[in-house]
Amino acid sequence: MIKYHPSHELLDTFVTGQLPASFSAAIAMHTELCEICRNKVAQLESTHATSTFISSAADEESDLTADMLFNDWEIDSLICSITGNDEIIHATAAVPQAISFNHTEYLLPRALQHIALGKQLNVGKLTRSRLDLNEGAIHASLLHIQAGGSIPNHTHKGTELTLLLEGSFEDEMGTYNKGDFIVLNNKHTHSPTTQQGCLCYTVVDSPLTFTDGIAKILNPLGNFIY
Ligand SMILES: [Zn+2]
Repeated sequence: MIKYHPSHELLDTFVTGQLPASFSAAIAMHTELCEICRNKVAQLESTHATSTFISSAADEESDLTADMLFNDWEIDSLICSITGNDEIIHATAAVPQAISFNHTEYLLPRALQHIALGKQLNVGKLTRSRLDLNEGAIHASLLHIQAGGSIPNHTHKGTELTLLLEGSFEDEMGTYNKGDFIVLNNKHTHSPTTQQGCLCYTVVDSPLTFTDGIAKILNPLGNFIY
């Protein structure tokens, strides 16, 4: 069961189209897996559509209320013009695409099916494939960790968003399962480990900083994950 969800503010910013593509993709993938947030997004879309409609209508027809803008005939005519159009472009069903990490196949979420993925790079049990989103300091990747793998204790100079796509992992703050949406910043220090292996979508805006004794020599790994 999904325990960690995007905040209301983040969902609202998603609906109004103000998020970077990497964050929007994370929310689109989460809502694909989470009925609760899917319903919240639908509700926010409806609220924003209504308020946009009313405010633009108020601009144009300051003396009319929204209820007065369309009469039944106009609504029927609008629906007829839409449904009476023979030039229907038939949508083709999306063909699920798979990606392979370390000989295991995973189905790509719909939000990632048309985004170019970079070459897979390996360090130990970690494999990273960067998404080609061209967002400057914001880097989005698929990160695969093989069973028994871990990332040493680290913190973040900026924000680290993790969406767990398959498998599970644990850290000092809890256990995470498929669909969990985790946002951490420089107030958090953690060392994720995975017993069964996992595939994550990650967005980070600065390299990870390893904090503990000998692990500090791994700081180049922070750049790898970034
Ligand atoms: Zn959710």
